[in-house]
Amino acid sequence: TRTPVIAGNWKMYKTVEEAKEFLRALPLSTLPDDVEVVICAPYLCLPSLAEQAQGSKVGIGAQNVHWETEGAYTGEISIPMLKAVGVQYVIIGHSERRAYFGETDETVNKKVKAAVKTGLIPIICVGETLEERENEQTKAVVERQVRAAIDGLSSDQVKKAIIAYEPVWAIGTGKASTAEDAGEVISFIRKTVAAGYDWQIANEVRIQYGGSVKPENIASFLEQTDIDGALVGGASLKPDSFMALVLAA
Ligand code: 13P
Repeated sequence: TRTPVIAGNWKMYKTVEEAKEFLRALPLSTLPDDVEVVICAPYLCLPSLAEQAQGSKVGIGAQNVHWETEGAYTGEISIPMLKAVGVQYVIIGHSERRAYFGETDETVNKKVKAAVKTGLIPIICVGETLEERENEQTKAVVERQVRAAIDGLSSDQVKKAIIAYEPVWAIGTGKASTAEDAGEVISFIRKTVAAGYDWQIANEVRIQYGGSVKPENIASFLEQTDIDGALVGGASLKPDSFMALVLAA
């Protein structure tokens, strides 16, 4: 059985002080054992969050990373830099990075490979746009994205990766996918992983749904057998609603 992962993606929200305040408001010592809790924060917040979360069940993640360990890459942050401050997860290939910052299947794969090599857990984002959905390309798109992202990973590496299915049209729109549709695409993603490895491996990979997840609708997603948690934007920004999501899992 897979442990569900509830991950907050704060995107470009919160100063260092606001981030600290958020974590102080969480009941760190009494979080449930049967759920993995992750907060993916802006780079600047990561050192203090990781320190505050130490010894608790909350894992800290970045929202992007470069694949090289160091070098002349102005403005970038490397995996060793993240690991040095206690970061354990990293979101890779979020649709906002694909749409606005030139992220491609190829750069996603480089980042995923670099992350798993060092034990940093990638949260790999895939999902179709509205146009792709309307043209009935959903499965073709997520299959291409998933295959490209995990290309070259060993079985042990792929088992530890987390995949987040985030249909682009559901992100920040308040229009979540239906649980049934999300469950169907996520089962298809698991099948895609199985095709590249085997079912035993595929059954260990956690696959989340993301896109307008809220305390009011999270239960319907978690009821789907193949959905292992959620990657949450807006509803992860307030301690109360974030905790409601964690307790629903
Ligand atoms: P919302 O939960 O705000 O729709 O964002 C989803 C998302 O992009 C998480 O990565």
